[in-house]
Amino acid sequence: MSGDCIFCKIANAQIPSKKIYEDEEVIAFHDIHPNAPVHFLIVPKLHIESLISCESQHQALLGKLLLLAPKLAKEQGLAGFRTMINTGHDGGQEVFHIHLHVFGGSAKLPKT
Ligand code: AMP
Ligand code: ZN
Repeated sequence: MSGDCIFCKIANAQIPSKKIYEDEEVIAFHDIHPNAPVHFLIVPKLHIESLISCESQHQALLGKLLLLAPKLAKEQGLAGFRTMINTGHDGGQEVFHIHLHVFGGSAKLPKT
């Protein structure tokens, strides 16, 4: 837990979210400013700033985030989806608690 981290606060239920999944290690919730008809975030409860901060001890947790994406996307009715991890200021990261974006629900997502 990092004191003023918004995703730690969501993980600790200190602020509300539109939660779609939770277990002891991970929480997933809809993005507050969706960029697609379906846009949710998969977030480890452990406060890790970004992908740059990850080490080998985080390998299983990172794998878990990725494997949750197709499971939760299917539950949200998506036949396909796009994932994204913004990393660092130069990578467009705004919330410095690592998270995996999942986008879908358009007939076809635009090419990046
Ligand atoms: P990033 O630019 O990858 O750090 O993305 C941060 C994302 O978190 C943005 O898409 C925001 O819309 C989203 N976000 C910020 N605050 C909240 C919140 N309280 N609940 C849900 N999503 C949030
Ligand atoms: Zn945090």
